Amino acid sequence: MKKAIYPGSFDPVTFGHLDMIERSAKVVDQLIVAVLRNNAKNPLFSTEERVSMLEEMTKNIPNVAVQSFDGLLIDYAKSVGATIIIRGLRAVTDFEYELQMAQTNRIVEPGVDTLFLTTSLEYAYLSSTIVKEVASYGGDISHFVPKQLIELIYHKYRKEIKQ
Ligand code: ADP
Repeated sequence: MKKAIYPGSFDPVTFGHLDMIERSAKVVDQLIVAVLRNNAKNPLFSTEERVSMLEEMTKNIPNVAVQSFDGLLIDYAKSVGATIIIRGLRAVTDFEYELQMAQTNRIVEPGVDTLFLTTSLEYAYLSSTIVKEVASYGGDISHFVPKQLIELIYHKYRKEIKQ
């Protein structure tokens, strides 16, 4: 039984993330999308909101579950019995950091390996940061995120402006 985790901030989840989830769910038996409780990054959405958005968007893929985690990724992987970490590579700029993380994790825990999927061409430019940047100016984000999330994202910025 191949169990994998796909960790990230998902603040918010984009079509790029969903593409990664669909593709990796075909390769492994069970996939846990793991939302990092990264208070340091001052996320737009709470951990609970990010988990619930991901649950809604992946509810039709039977071998995908969504959880949140804190602390070292490798400890979390071991705690759920995962032997694979899935990461996405968009551009060369992702590579250096990802290589370092993957190598570090293998030194700490040789039983867990990192599997990289290259981005689908149509989402190569896409990141949560880009979505937030465009949304903060009231721009069109319909090419970046599922339509059910558009209003939730705009709403965050309207609330920020009112405060
Ligand atoms: P992190 O803060 O860990 O980078 P993200 O939510 O930004 O979290 O990304 C989670 C994972 O998804 C990372 O491996 C990232 O490279 C990958 N990813 C993000 N956007 C895309 C995309 N458009 N195409 C492919 N992979 C992506």
